[in-house]
Amino acid sequence: MADYVELHCHSAYSFLDGASQPEELATRAVELGYEALALTDHDGVYGSLEFAYAAKALGLRSITGAEVTLVDGSHVTLLVETPRGYANLCRLLTAAHASERLNPRLDPVLLAEESEGLVCLSGCARHGLAVRNPNAAEELARSFGRDRFYVELQRPYERGDARRNAALRALAEALGVRTIATGDVHAHHPRRLRLQDVLVAIKNRTSLEGCEAERRGNAESVLLDPKDVFARFPDDRGAVRRTRELAERLTFDLTDELGYRYPDFSDGPTPADVQLADVCRRADLYVCDNSSTIYEFAATGRPVVVLNAPGYRKSVHHGLRFWTAADVGIQVDRSADLLPAIREALEDAPERQAKREAALNVVYGFRHGAAERAAREIKSWSAAREEAAA
Ligand SMILES: [Zn+2]
Repeated sequence: MADYVELHCHSAYSFLDGASQPEELATRAVELGYEALALTDHDGVYGSLEFAYAAKALGLRSITGAEVTLVDGSHVTLLVETPRGYANLCRLLTAAHASERLNPRLDPVLLAEESEGLVCLSGCARHGLAVRNPNAAEELARSFGRDRFYVELQRPYERGDARRNAALRALAEALGVRTIATGDVHAHHPRRLRLQDVLVAIKNRTSLEGCEAERRGNAESVLLDPKDVFARFPDDRGAVRRTRELAERLTFDLTDELGYRYPDFSDGPTPADVQLADVCRRADLYVCDNSSTIYEFAATGRPVVVLNAPGYRKSVHHGLRFWTAADVGIQVDRSADLLPAIREALEDAPERQAKREAALNVVYGFRHGAAERAAREIKSWSAAREEAAA
């Protein structure tokens, strides 16, 4: 088993920066002999679930995290250790995006307050907090504590690597914390690095020549063979081995049931999910709150309404497969209006409506008054379909 685990890795969900899909990273990691891999996209966990499922299917252990941007523009790498840590990470990311959607910034005071269950690495070579603002890093190190704060060492073979890493080692010693090596991966394979360059140029709205300084032109930001990592950090072999020790602690698995419940948007004493279930039953629709029973009903051709019960994320995941099988699928989330989505899906596929095996699956987040309308719409679609089949 490899002694190195990559704990700083970007997918294409680091928009206009990462050049590989989560499943490409997972597949390549398995090829290279990694036992675990962390996904740490910029200011979001958009790719984490996809990554976790892809990794699981390949027998790779996924570690969930994000590289967050603080108010001063510097970066820290956050890794999830426990379910509470995942909840805190999501809360922190929401707060970071709350003021300016396209320019997320996290207040380090909030990070210190909501740090339970998270491990903090001090950030990347170019923008890392420890590189840019050692005093602020010291404060964070204090609130996270020695077991949950590491000074992050990277060696992108850029000018200043030796001086920067010497300063970081000294900082770690002064703070009484340990160093850890990471790769700041932006591509799963060297052949993808040219695309990464192009993404950086697009992001900077310039040509390839125009973004020479921002580009990672030396092809070092690729997922390495773990055996080659010791050669990259000859003076920090302990920091390399520590990745594996830390990874062994990070056992949080995003594919486990997290017990998440949607907030109840009911306008009366009856909870919204109970209201919707009643309406659907009156409309003679099968209602299930468990995605695993969808398949049985797919075969009957009857419309199925899937309530957003425990396991919503799993419903979506299974739902995607189910829709492929059933030919008609609609996913509606809380932020969307249900009716236009249903109409669009049906109009989009008139030939599918005629198919007896087609079924309708609505993964539906509850909104005021939407339940009645949804049930009516589904029922009239169902009747029209039966008429057409008769
Ligand atoms: Zn960074």
